[in-house]
Amino acid sequence: MIKKEMDSCSSDLVEEIKKDYRASADIGLKRCMQCGMCTSNCPAARHSSYDPREMVKMVLDDNPEILENPDIWNCFYCYTCQSNCPVNNSPSQVNQILRQKVLQKGGKTERIYKFITYGYSFMEFGVGLIPTDFFEIRANDFGEKYREFKDELEDIREELGLGEYILTGEDQEEVKNILTESGFKKRLKKFKEAGESL
Ligand code: SF4
Ligand code: SF4
Repeated sequence: MIKKEMDSCSSDLVEEIKKDYRASADIGLKRCMQCGMCTSNCPAARHSSYDPREMVKMVLDDNPEILENPDIWNCFYCYTCQSNCPVNNSPSQVNQILRQKVLQKGGKTERIYKFITYGYSFMEFGVGLIPTDFFEIRANDFGEKYREFKDELEDIREELGLGEYILTGEDQEEVKNILTESGFKKRLKKFKEAGESL
């Protein structure tokens, strides 16, 4: 009975999210009972005013103001919310789809521009290498050991018998082709140009 009432929710935002290819086929968005488990375990909520429970509530209420809410950019996709949700909802996926809607309309480009080199390294090497601009920040956060680790990474990998961590040859070409044919490359360029014009 309760489930039926919840499934009768008529929100355009809910329907758009459920149809999005980023959403799991069995996402329990309409079954959200506002228990707050997601928020209580969310690291982003602990350190900012972001509230995944409230975000889901606004989606269920078909409230477009959620797209203007700067807090949605504080989620970093750890998926703790999804792991803990009792009705198999995924605030993490909901968040990703909401952000994409904002980006598709040309908004908040500055939020992703600083990460754009992840995309280019993925195109080039098949892995998302950490942008060099972030090295100093990470070294400050993690200490000198991080810098040493980065400097000695090649030697450490060799010692452990690990191979190259970037793709080469045919594998590299295959990834490039997939990313080009799927529109990833074009989209990346669009965000780069938009970011540079800020
Ligand atoms: S944990 Fe799940 S059911 Fe509870 S508020 Fe969050 S999304 Fe809704
Ligand atoms: S994925 Fe986002 S909303 Fe979910 S727990 Fe992690 S930071 Fe919070």
